[in-house]
Amino acid sequence: MISGNIEKIDELKELILSSKKTMVLTGAGISTNSGIPDFRSKDTGLWTKTDPMEFLTREVLMNNPKKLYDNILGGPKVSFKPNRGHYILKELEDRKLIDGVITQNIDRLHQDAGSKIVYEVHGNMREGYCLDCGQIMESDEMRRKIESGEIPPNCNNCNGVVRTSIVLFGDMLPEEFDMAIDEVEKSDLLIVIGSSLSVSPINMLPRLAKKLVIINREATLMDNIADICIREDASEALEKLIERL
Ligand code: NAD
Ligand code: ZN
Repeated sequence: MISGNIEKIDELKELILSSKKTMVLTGAGISTNSGIPDFRSKDTGLWTKTDPMEFLTREVLMNNPKKLYDNILGGPKVSFKPNRGHYILKELEDRKLIDGVITQNIDRLHQDAGSKIVYEVHGNMREGYCLDCGQIMESDEMRRKIESGEIPPNCNNCNGVVRTSIVLFGDMLPEEFDMAIDEVEKSDLLIVIGSSLSVSPINMLPRLAKKLVIINREATLMDNIADICIREDASEALEKLIERL
């Protein structure tokens, strides 16, 4: 660990204890310890191999859905499990030390760990919905239809086109984003964990925070406006934090 982090974690502890309302904003970095690669880590991020901007777009969904679904649902099904970082955030919520998690992740691992208040500002990969009637379809069923050549999958209710709930480049953000803005505005403290803060408009949230703490392995675009920057692995930093609380 980089020396000085223990002092910073002590400072974070004091901020948490004196804050009436604290929100956490997580990015792909909270889930790398569960085996899911992020986008922008220096050597291992997905962006080093492929450009998600080429297939994770609304334009591809409308004009070449096979390309999108081959990339997000086409591979073998692997199930990922929450890691220590997700479980510590759940415990902090149970102990009323944080008031909820805003996540850019689509992996549902916060909910799997038991966190109750989770705002999914980029949607999730567990399900899709019909563009015509709104009926939900589980991803497993979407996957079965896709594997049998039904691309895009059709709605069982009205035969309309079913799309993934993942927010794609070019999509509007869900209502949960407005709720997240509201939560941050009402908070005394925002702790950002595992995000490069390069995706907008999510990266406006740190600017709304009264106090801002960033926990990340590498530098982020907003370190300069943070009150405390802890340059460390998310699970390890959270472990040290909870030992002190
Ligand atoms: P990002 O890839 O842009 O940044 C992740 C950051 O986390 C990097 O700065 C990296 O240094 C840091 N990091 C990686 N592992 C870490 C660890 N163990 N401890 C501490 N820091 C660590 O991710 P982002 O800012 O969330 O933006 C990517 C977008 O892609 C998001 O919108 C998200 O929706 C999506 N995405 C989601 C998942 C997922 O659901 N798990 C995975 C990849 C991408
Ligand atoms: Zn329908």
